[in-house]
Amino acid sequence: MTTILYSCITGCIAMEGYCVKCKSKREMKDEKKVTMKNGKPATQGICTVCGTKMFKIGK
Ligand SMILES: [Zn+2]
Repeated sequence: MTTILYSCITGCIAMEGYCVKCKSKREMKDEKKVTMKNGKPATQGICTVCGTKMFKIGK
């Protein structure tokens, strides 16, 4: 079971993030790696449901 979870990290196409407009977790599209002002990595993408910009801290 753990193996499936780990393979999903590299194998999953859609990334999940929190959409502020849907107020729930949504799949992210067009995600790109960005660096925040404090130098920490983040991921920016678009909500597949409403098209709102999403932001996720971390890789
Ligand atoms: Zn949304």
